[in-house]
Amino acid sequence: AVTKGFSHRRRGFQPVLGEISFSVEEGEFVTIIGPSGSGKSTLLKMLAGLEQPDTGSVSLEGRPIAGPSRRLGVVFQQHVLLPWLTAKQNVIFALTADGSSGRSVAQTEELAEKWLDLVHLTEAAEKKPGQLSGGMQQRVGIARAFALEPDVLLLDEPLGALDALTRHSLQQQLLHLSEQEKRTFVLVTHDVDEALMLSDRILVLSHGPEARVQQDIRLPFGRPRDREGVECSEDY
Ligand code: ATP
Ligand code: MG
Repeated sequence: AVTKGFSHRRRGFQPVLGEISFSVEEGEFVTIIGPSGSGKSTLLKMLAGLEQPDTGSVSLEGRPIAGPSRRLGVVFQQHVLLPWLTAKQNVIFALTADGSSGRSVAQTEELAEKWLDLVHLTEAAEKKPGQLSGGMQQRVGIARAFALEPDVLLLDEPLGALDALTRHSLQQQLLHLSEQEKRTFVLVTHDVDEALMLSDRILVLSHGPEARVQQDIRLPFGRPRDREGVECSEDY
């Protein structure tokens, strides 16, 4: 179990997460929902190795997570793009950051373009973040995380600010990555329909401070598309 709080200059130590304990299976799609301020983003940052728990630890395949890892892709609630680079350069920068990909320059560029196309940003590839809307910047963040092809994707309300069409198409994309490519997902969303459509399991956090996992719901009949036999691989 992990716990987490923050020290404030005036108010002293404020607990955020109480004892939280859960594990995610390989290939599982887990969605976290809960009230605003309950600590969902904080929890995701701990899973990503970007915040340290006060007590307890987070591990990946039995090994404690020491810091950010290539195997974990993160899409933040607030998009964090490099403002002096274009959308495409932002994706390429992430792909080449540790210099060990083994891809040629042309292959890297192709991969960046593929993902920008998939999030409907073909036209905007050469624009800088300052010239893009909030939703478009969010999509660059998604393209950047997904282009790295991590085993585990940690997504903090990635689709909330998008128009309905783009949101639908990205939901199909998430389903594809989950179903066909067996990626593991932890998604934070406020959208219950989205949670029901995408997840194998939904964790509901209680109100903070000291939020806990109030409910751990395994969707009993599989995801809706499993029941209806919806084809989700080809229509994005
Ligand atoms: P939302 O649904 O609005 O995104 P959330 O569930 O993601 O909310 P968090 O962003 O995790 O909530 O914040 C939980 C609590 O922790 C809040 O009270 C917030 O003020 C506090 N908090 C988060 N990050 C920090 C930080 N770096 N320093 C101090 N307090 C923080
Ligand atoms: Mg949040």
